[in-house]
Amino acid sequence: MIEGRCLCGAVCYKVEAEPLVMRACWCRVCQFLASGNATINLAFPSDAVTITGDLTDYQSTADSGHKMHRRFCPACGTHMFSAAEDRPHLIIIRAGTLDDPEIVNLQGVIWTASAPHWAHIDPDIPHFDGQPPPIA
Ligand SMILES: [Zn+2]
Ligand SMILES: [Zn+2]
Repeated sequence: MIEGRCLCGAVCYKVEAEPLVMRACWCRVCQFLASGNATINLAFPSDAVTITGDLTDYQSTADSGHKMHRRFCPACGTHMFSAAEDRPHLIIIRAGTLDDPEIVNLQGVIWTASAPHWAHIDPDIPHFDGQPPPIA
């Protein structure tokens, strides 16, 4: 069981599945969400994730062209979940919200073409200039 919460604790979640993929994303939107850095994202089957608490859903079209729903805690502002409208069977969880961030082992870095020159990108894991192929 993987568990996590927002900064203030108003939103909690439990996951009864292993991550499908774990990646860093340097797309321009993620730089806004992660205070200038890449976001660290874990993808899960959406039916394995149970969420308690109220979230605000910010909708926008990503650089990939997908219409995205990015959900955050309205009390503390922590970004927690992301999902593509045309891929509702997948949910992305932001790694900063995990009770145990040590479970992350990054398998790739995406949208590296949008990263600033000072970004540190691990040379030992796969890179994608933009959107990688769909995972499932
Ligand atoms: Zn909160
Ligand atoms: Zn991104």
